[in-house]
Amino acid sequence: MPACKQMRGFMSTPQTRQQWQQLAAQLQICGQAFIHGEYCAAVSGETFDCISPVDGNKLAAVASCDLADAEAAVASARASFESGVWSRMAPVERKKVMIRFADLLEAHSDELALLETLDMGKPIRFSKSVDVTNAARALRWSGEAVDKIYDEIAPTADNEIGMITREPVGVVAAIVPWNFPLLMACWKLGPALASGNSVILKPSEKSPLTAIRMAAIALEAGIPPGVLNVLPGFGHTVGKALALHMDVDTLVFTGSTKIAKQLMVYAGQSNMKRVWLEAGGKSPHIVFNDCPDLKAAAQAAASAIAFNQGEVCTAGSRLLVESGVKEQLIALIIDELKSWQPGHPLDPDTVSGAVVDQQQLQTILGYIEAGKQQGAVLACGGEQLMAETGGVYVAPTLFREVNNQMSIAREEIFGPVLSVIEFEGMEQAIAIGNDSIYGLAAGVWTSDLSKAHRTAKALRSGMVWINHYDGGDMTAPFGGYKQSGNGRDKSLHAFDKYTEIKATWIAI
Ligand code: NAD
Ligand code: MN
Repeated sequence: MPACKQMRGFMSTPQTRQQWQQLAAQLQICGQAFIHGEYCAAVSGETFDCISPVDGNKLAAVASCDLADAEAAVASARASFESGVWSRMAPVERKKVMIRFADLLEAHSDELALLETLDMGKPIRFSKSVDVTNAARALRWSGEAVDKIYDEIAPTADNEIGMITREPVGVVAAIVPWNFPLLMACWKLGPALASGNSVILKPSEKSPLTAIRMAAIALEAGIPPGVLNVLPGFGHTVGKALALHMDVDTLVFTGSTKIAKQLMVYAGQSNMKRVWLEAGGKSPHIVFNDCPDLKAAAQAAASAIAFNQGEVCTAGSRLLVESGVKEQLIALIIDELKSWQPGHPLDPDTVSGAVVDQQQLQTILGYIEAGKQQGAVLACGGEQLMAETGGVYVAPTLFREVNNQMSIAREEIFGPVLSVIEFEGMEQAIAIGNDSIYGLAAGVWTSDLSKAHRTAKALRSGMVWINHYDGGDMTAPFGGYKQSGNGRDKSLHAFDKYTEIKATWIAI
């Protein structure tokens, strides 16, 4: 495989699907690993095909990294960390590089957005306005924070000094999913790099392209060789190698609960590396009879299941509706879902694109079949669409008369399939809301201030949104209770994952 050439930023942002397709045709897509500041093939020479869910075309042959590549990347990360070139750089200097990194990401936003859309199918408008924009914001926010975080002095006796300082943990492996590939990576990279660590990023085999491209942008911004390595790989091979590695200090993960649990086992089997997990969800979106604005609730409910084709960890996939507003709300949501019909992802007007691949399509269709068999009533959607394109598209789907024991209410589908469950009163809403192995997010619609607070407090979830859905920015932590994980991305709390606390006690 020849070394990847660098592509410069595009001249101007395309305005039409045709212009985006022209750019896509010119794109030079790199599928190589990035180790110690250079693109390289996997040691084995193996590759796997990266297939676009937009139309079924092959985008690139991607390096299939395994154990040998993990060894090389960890050695590079360790060497760069020990050298101090980044880890001992003054925070104010690291800040400048992080901000430059964010600026360069934005300067390449058309190219990165296009790669994201081609690779995992999301609409180009959101790849740009949500994924790349917020990825850059995460890097910038974390960079700006790092010279404003102070350490502590303990309240000692007069003849001693107790210093409580934070130090970078060392070598961090970050394993990320395919639903927001660049954004989930940058939620980790922001605080991980800003605190002085060296990182190995392992993107999903379903969406490796933006992580690979970003590596060169980081280098250009001034992140030294070895401080950010990127290892694409097929299946579990390279991720498992990193998780079992004796010289990885911390493992941060976003992905499914099943793999998250496996990573804890790997840590226990190896060096007890710290493991921070952001995992799945089955979030309850609760609408009480005294909802202040049923139309707004319907819009939020539709977008909470249809945005990003439902491939969102915080998807409001269980709509809990109180009996008095049930019929009206369901009718409004079905109407709203009409505006979420899938279209060509490179059309700037499209709001719903392709699901990530054929395998995910089969998973979604399997759940739809199970819903029907278990007695839920299919009220809209339920089928694959646009198959003639060669791409992978699903209609936004709503099941009513769902009970919380059905598999469509218990398991994370990761597709645009909404389960509507009826309830009566606050106690029952809370009980059903909490009857899940997950505890990531929840929404509550009510005009009663006390009911809003009492429900929010009683819900066992890391995030609660009142009278809207999916709020928050870099200033608030993001993460879950129970089997939705243990860590938090975003906000200053995220820095806890990337630093060790040291107590230095001095007799004076
Ligand atoms: P996944 O668990 O299948 O894969 C996640 C990552 O782990 C991928 O990079 C994958 O290659 C890697 N991996 C797979 N097996 C591995 C192994 N044995 N050892 C090491 N690494 C391994 O998840 P996914 O399908 O990519 O992503 C969807 C999931 O991510 C959903 O469950 C979703 O809820 C979750 N998610 C959570 C958050 C959050 O912040 N809580 C955000 C986004 C997505
Ligand atoms: Mn892909």
